Amino acid sequence: MGSKTITAKQLEVQRIVDTLSRAIAQHRLRPGTRLIEAQIVEALQANRNHVQVALQRLALQRIVTIEPNRGALVSQPTAKEAREVFTARRAIERAIVESITPELMRRNRQRIATHMSNERKATSSTDRRAIVRELSDFHLLLGEVSDNEVLSEMLRNLMVRSSLIVALYQRNDVPSCASDEHQQIVTALEQGDRVQAVTLMLEHLDELEAQLALEEQAAPEVDLRQALADL
Ligand SMILES: [Zn+2]
Repeated sequence: MGSKTITAKQLEVQRIVDTLSRAIAQHRLRPGTRLIEAQIVEALQANRNHVQVALQRLALQRIVTIEPNRGALVSQPTAKEAREVFTARRAIERAIVESITPELMRRNRQRIATHMSNERKATSSTDRRAIVRELSDFHLLLGEVSDNEVLSEMLRNLMVRSSLIVALYQRNDVPSCASDEHQQIVTALEQGDRVQAVTLMLEHLDELEAQLALEEQAAPEVDLRQALADL
């Protein structure tokens, strides 16, 4: 019975983690948003203790920041962290693409086709949330198709953090992934050309990073004594 109780609690914590991650990934909760426990308890019909555990888990994943005496807020990655996330994505997504054999592509043909169709539908609409969701789901789908749970799990974390980065540093409001670039990656994988698929994926990630205003946003080192001296 004891183990059953633990399992139910773990499932419930996971549900809260997943829901908050999704809301953050879809920019429903933007970087810096205060995550007030009582409101989460009410909105998700959850137990306060479960919400606390979920927030701690998200803090370990760097998706949430917990400040002593001030509670939790959605993380605001620095420009340095943003670059590090993209470096990590290049490594992980290269490994994912290299793992996807033509056989795995065949096995997942229907799923991929359904996704590509949803993605095209979203990108030709003006529904920003749907666009953000579908473009991000493409990368997660490749993770799942690769059939490597470790890579896939690392990518899930990086994708939520990427979402925070895009929300903070995107130069303009145009959604970041180009759907035709995704299609080219799929085509290369279907043809069994993994070298080409890796090249396309790395170019795609370089381009996403180039759309971020990481230089300008870096917080300048300010000497407060000097800055405030002449006031
Ligand atoms: Zn993309």
